[in-house]
Amino acid sequence: MKDWIKVLRAADAAARWHVHQRRKGAGQEPYINHLLEVAMLVAEACDGGDPELIVAAILHDAIEDQEVPRRLIADEFGENVAALVEEVTDDKSVPKMDRKRLQVEKSASKSARAKMLKLADKTSNLRSIAASPPPDWSVRRRLEYVAWARDVAVGLRGVNPWLEGQFDRAAQDAYDATTVQQVR
Ligand code: ZN
Repeated sequence: MKDWIKVLRAADAAARWHVHQRRKGAGQEPYINHLLEVAMLVAEACDGGDPELIVAAILHDAIEDQEVPRRLIADEFGENVAALVEEVTDDKSVPKMDRKRLQVEKSASKSARAKMLKLADKTSNLRSIAASPPPDWSVRRRLEYVAWARDVAVGLRGVNPWLEGQFDRAAQDAYDATTVQQVR
């Protein structure tokens, strides 16, 4: 199958799997917006040269948020895509604070592709915090998220400078948007 058809198949599947899921931000954007933003970031980062990574980016929250079976992803999109999605999936049986700590500790040992995907994911989340923060998040919580994302990103560097630049800008914008509101 042609690669661009696989990418569209993944987008179609993700749109259906996440159909009732919305972003946490005040704008309540459809979740597919996030998935496509992450996919676009990795697509530009690899200049379109790694279709499996782009497909995995579209599907990266399918196991974690929608409990899509790993086997289904492997059957539909191949073992490499399933392995990549699994590599960026948190174990939800672990308490949330431990999951956050584990992300910081484990980011440096991820594969190069998983590092790109995670960096794109964090970039998208930080952009959302700047543009449409969750209404129930305090200033302190938003700033803690920015600081945590920067900690995770330390272990994700050294693979794609362009993506690192996108992340750094998004982190700074999220910080600025939050602190400006604080001053107001
Ligand atoms: Zn995500």
